[in-house]
Amino acid sequence: MQTDVLIVGNGAAALAAARFLPKNMRVLIVAKSGEKSTAKRGEGGSNNTDLAQGGIACPIDENDIESHIADTIKAGAGRCDEKAVRTLVTRGFDLIRELCALSLPFDRDEKGGLIRAKEAAHSKARVLQVQGDHSGFFLRLFLLDQLSAPQLYGAVIDLLIEDDCCYGATFFDGEKMENIYANRVIIASGGIGALYASTTNEPLILGELQGIAAFRGLTLKDMHFTQFHPTAIDRKDSVQKPLLSEALRGAGATIIDDRSRRFLEDYGENELSPRDRLSRAVFAHIQSGRKVFLDLSAIEPSLFRSRFESADRLAAKYGLKPPISPAFHYSIGGIAVDSNAKVLGVKGLYAIGEAASSGVHGANRLASNSLLEALVFAKIAAENIADDFSANGDIKIDPIGAAALNGKDDQTALETIRQTLWNRFGVVRQKSAMIEGKAILESLEKGDLGVLTRRSLLTAKTIANCAIAETQNVGAHYVKKETD
Ligand SMILES: Cc1cc2nc3c(=O)[nH]c(=O)nc-3n(C[C@H](O)[C@H](O)[C@H](O)COP(=O)(O)OP(=O)(O)OC[C@H]3O[C@@H](n4cnc5c(N)ncnc54)[C@H](O)[C@@H]3O)c2cc1C
Repeated sequence: MQTDVLIVGNGAAALAAARFLPKNMRVLIVAKSGEKSTAKRGEGGSNNTDLAQGGIACPIDENDIESHIADTIKAGAGRCDEKAVRTLVTRGFDLIRELCALSLPFDRDEKGGLIRAKEAAHSKARVLQVQGDHSGFFLRLFLLDQLSAPQLYGAVIDLLIEDDCCYGATFFDGEKMENIYANRVIIASGGIGALYASTTNEPLILGELQGIAAFRGLTLKDMHFTQFHPTAIDRKDSVQKPLLSEALRGAGATIIDDRSRRFLEDYGENELSPRDRLSRAVFAHIQSGRKVFLDLSAIEPSLFRSRFESADRLAAKYGLKPPISPAFHYSIGGIAVDSNAKVLGVKGLYAIGEAASSGVHGANRLASNSLLEALVFAKIAAENIADDFSANGDIKIDPIGAAALNGKDDQTALETIRQTLWNRFGVVRQKSAMIEGKAILESLEKGDLGVLTRRSLLTAKTIANCAIAETQNVGAHYVKKETD
């Protein structure tokens, strides 16, 4: 099969790239699943975009651009690429206006003005929503409605790279393996959440493309900057934990323990502290033997219905005081790219959205900047492809054999990766535990593993190596002293 542009993924980043590519280009999307019909409202499919609740951060007006840039850089704890942040915010401001003109139905007040929510570490209320806390789902629905490119469902298992040029990808549709040749490839395959034993992410988000990129000699950057969310519902029967958004705390929800005590003060925090610090306080309290809950009872019932439909649904199932715990939420690091979203060190390959490390988040992501990043860098990649398009020469590369797909140790290896990352590269880390964790991950290499499990393992090992090499406690990376 041959196409002009192959896009891996069908979340916000992928669909936005497809929307902004020239109409005369042949574009093909491959993703694990998730057309409109399979994504139930608020429950997602195989992508994280459908799950996004808070919304999309965007400067209020021209005067707010510098302040949004400053908030992003402050949250990133000195590790942001300032040029990339400026691109994110200035291009994001224009892009949101363009999407308004295309009739993306952002929530508006009676006078027709955009409703803006305030989230932690934003100095102003600037987060836009689409149908309240279903923002990601309705953003994706809007992009799917604009989509003319065909979609195929299955898994990309390799990138076709020779002589520093990407010629396409190997794709398995559940029955047959084939090479899809493309003049340009865009990786928009999302993060790594399902490599953690406790996550807010979809279970199919396994960091496979990050591992494939690393296997093919490309650079993964900042992989240890893993953001944890402090208020996920602590259900034991699944790796994926439903998220209770921080907007609920903004609207009056409090964090209490099994003695009904608001204990955050003991740790020098409050309900609106930044996510990383709040996650550490909740985690420490659970480690001390207490159970922790989010008390939703102070929220006005009318607000539940109008702004927090997802939370209302969860409250109906788990009650008004659901048990909570931190959970892995967002991969700040990813495949290293330049300012045009081009993957470093190879021609014809782009990475956007959560799969990429564009430098905008530094060591910690400002809330609701990730959907903005997905949209902005999708447009930048599409523009760059349009400006710089050329056909690859003819090439034939043998696809990997189907026999290599599955190994008998896949499931146990995935379970070990999850436990190792969660327990040793989680909310609070310790040097000795990380070194042991790295050895545990390395020992898995001897097993009988399918190719994608092997690539996920490589991603996990990269997280371990980056975390061990980091010399500072910075942003989302926190190592406590051995004696603490
Ligand atoms: C519960 C939750 C709430 C969130 N809330 C917000 C929010 O309010 N605001 C915000 O800005 N961000 C939020 N985020 C983060 C944000 O949703 C994600 O960062 C963003 O949606 C990522 O978009 P993406 O297109 O890069 O990846 P995704 O939407 O995750 O899509 C990844 C795609 O890659 C495909 N894929 C993966 N592996 C393969 C493979 N091997 N072969 C083929 N296809 C593959 C998947 O099928 C999927 O289509 C939230 C995340 C979660 C989990």
